[in-house]
Amino acid sequence: MRVLLALGGNAMTNMDGRARVEDQLAAAQTAMAAVAGLVAERVDVVITHGNGPQVGNLLVKNELAAAVVPPVPLDWCGAQTQGTLGFILMNALDTALAERGLDKRSATVVTRARVAGDDPGFTTPTKPIGRFLPAAEAQLLVEHGETWQDRGEKGWRRVVASPEPLEILDGPAVHALVEAGFVVVANGGGGIPVVHDPNGSLRGVEAVIDKDLGAVLLARTVAADVLVIATDVPRAVLRYGEPDAEPVGLVTVAEMRRLAGEGHFASGSMGPKVDAACRFVEQGGSRSVITDLQHIVTAVADPAGQSAGTVVVPNPTGG
Ligand code: ADP
Ligand code: MG
Repeated sequence: MRVLLALGGNAMTNMDGRARVEDQLAAAQTAMAAVAGLVAERVDVVITHGNGPQVGNLLVKNELAAAVVPPVPLDWCGAQTQGTLGFILMNALDTALAERGLDKRSATVVTRARVAGDDPGFTTPTKPIGRFLPAAEAQLLVEHGETWQDRGEKGWRRVVASPEPLEILDGPAVHALVEAGFVVVANGGGGIPVVHDPNGSLRGVEAVIDKDLGAVLLARTVAADVLVIATDVPRAVLRYGEPDAEPVGLVTVAEMRRLAGEGHFASGSMGPKVDAACRFVEQGGSRSVITDLQHIVTAVADPAGQSAGTVVVPNPTGG
């Protein structure tokens, strides 16, 4: 069995969202203990991860140091976080594998995701990134060509495009490593967005790809059977936060789409995960799972979703 594991922001930071070095190392340790559990079950694992807090920190450094060293573009920040997070995940994974006496090598591939230059996201940016700034400081960055929006009380915030990922250009390299038996970390932050210019050259763009959509594309690229979206709740929940809240266990993709249509899953948090889970199954995947790190191994071993996780499966055929 081959699993694509997508680690959410909170699987990579402290519970309170802080991304100090020690927070990230501790989070990586917890997540990779779960991965070692899967490897022990003879599962091929490909890992992808969010990078929001890490890129946010890099942007602050850019802002504060702009008068001394040139700021780097957002796609460079994406590449940097893929490298750094790949590094700490591999260290944590090697330790977790050694503890179980498992002989398996890891690798990280910095991956580019192609997006369309005319994606509507570029004309109407919607994805807020980085910290809030007072109007005067935001104005300076607007003069440097960035788009910032007045968000009221909290101040101004940068917004960028969130284009649809079309192709992972480095997918074949990831696939080859998986086939060769490596546990591969790839496509963090949804992939580094690049566009093909009319003259054929590739160019990084200042945009953010949804990590869960990037995960679906990577899952298809490596022919994964199961997409696991790891977050900080054991299951997606209907009427979330209300007295009659009800966790979703095993569900067909048609039913999950219907529930999403009723507005049960908040956009910007559970919504994109449910959408990604549905897409993977609609595109031929055998199962998607949404759960927390503690339940990954149990959920993967239990296709009926009885013990753990929200499990999205194909619609019955012929019905
Ligand atoms: P991550 O950082 O792991 O990618 P998010 O924080 O974006 O994850 O999304 C997970 C969060 O979504 C949960 O902690 C929960 O607060 C929120 N959430 C919103 N709607 C739901 C729902 N219907 N069921 C479960 N969690 C939900
Ligand atoms: Mg979160």
